[in-house]
Amino acid sequence: MISNYHRPKTLDEALTLLTQPNTVPLGGGTLLSKATADSVAVVDLQSLGLDALRVSGNELQIGATCTLQSLLESENCPASLKAALKLEAPLNIRNTATVAGTVVAADGRSPFVTMLLAMDAKLEHRRLTADQPSSNVLSLSEFILTHPSGLVTSIILPLNVKTAFEFVSKTPADKPIVCAALAQWNSGRARLTLGGYGKTPLLAMDGTEADGIQEAARNAYHEANDEWASAEYRMDVAAVLAKRALESLS
Ligand SMILES: Cc1cc2nc3c(=O)[nH]c(=O)nc-3n(C[C@H](O)[C@H](O)[C@H](O)COP(=O)(O)OP(=O)(O)OC[C@H]3O[C@@H](n4cnc5c(N)ncnc54)[C@H](O)[C@@H]3O)c2cc1C
Repeated sequence: MISNYHRPKTLDEALTLLTQPNTVPLGGGTLLSKATADSVAVVDLQSLGLDALRVSGNELQIGATCTLQSLLESENCPASLKAALKLEAPLNIRNTATVAGTVVAADGRSPFVTMLLAMDAKLEHRRLTADQPSSNVLSLSEFILTHPSGLVTSIILPLNVKTAFEFVSKTPADKPIVCAALAQWNSGRARLTLGGYGKTPLLAMDGTEADGIQEAARNAYHEANDEWASAEYRMDVAAVLAKRALESLS
């Protein structure tokens, strides 16, 4: 339950408010506005101008409060990321949910975060310290592992990579039971991630080339057993999807 609502006009004001106890950032509010027993104070980010999408050199900078649908509709959004976004949530939620809120709240079934992780996305993040908030850039891998408190201000993606996204789900619009996201750099570096299971998407491979990609996919899901599918099924499907992704890189 939201017990206190703030809508600051500046980032500094937001960061100061967020140092107060039991106070969290509010993105689109699709998760935070769910009824819960706990009461929380929220700092609404919508007036901070953090919703822009910018191309800078070989990077796409996505403001934290950019909605999933705005990103999907951007001409600068890679096709494979668009495919993942369509599966993340239905249109009404995509129109409201923000990219940062989605990254923070995501579990291992998130196609969006699986694709971002393959692209080795970086997050601009403000840590909240008692005296002066400090700014730093974290890899998404690190963010997922440590979940630092504070404020994500943007997500940065490389645009000079080829990418692919493949999935299997119960229906075409369902969140995948298994999905594979692949990014390959000009140097040959290949990064494969898997989604559809567990608490976070998994990094299956980050190598100087894509050799062994199917084996890496199989190995990554050897314990991926839940009510949706057995680990054996996921291992087989992950290997097939990884092969397809490699063949369809664009
Ligand atoms: C009815 C309903 C139920 C849902 N239930 C779940 C669920 O149980 N689990 C789940 O994973 N998803 C759930 N979702 C999906 C949820 O909508 C997505 O995770 C969504 O993309 C969150 O984005 P948001 O911008 O609305 O986030 P919000 O609801 O605004 O925030 C989600 C989380 O992210 C934090 N946050 C937001 N912006 C920032 C920022 N810039 N920096 C740091 N932290 C930030 C918030 O403090 C909060 O902890 C549900 C959606 C709906 C409509």
